[in-house]
Amino acid sequence: MADNRRFGRGGVYTCTECDKKTRETGEGESALEMCRSCYLEGGHINSVLDGNMTVTEFEKMYEKPFPFPNLLPEDESDES
Ligand SMILES: [Zn+2]
Repeated sequence: MADNRRFGRGGVYTCTECDKKTRETGEGESALEMCRSCYLEGGHINSVLDGNMTVTEFEKMYEKPFPFPNLLPEDESDES
């Protein structure tokens, strides 16, 4: 293929999260070998864990359950 070069050293890599071929879009996601959507999702996961976003908001945005419920602080049930 004449287009070989574009995929060889053009910064294309496979996302470690979803196995899609992807490349850096300027978000800094290539440092983590993630595609943009997985990288941004990771950012939102961190927001939830930091309390800047609720699990409900996350689940509405991604239309799936929050993937790391075990990492959430359990201060809702434990009122100390
Ligand atoms: Zn991905």
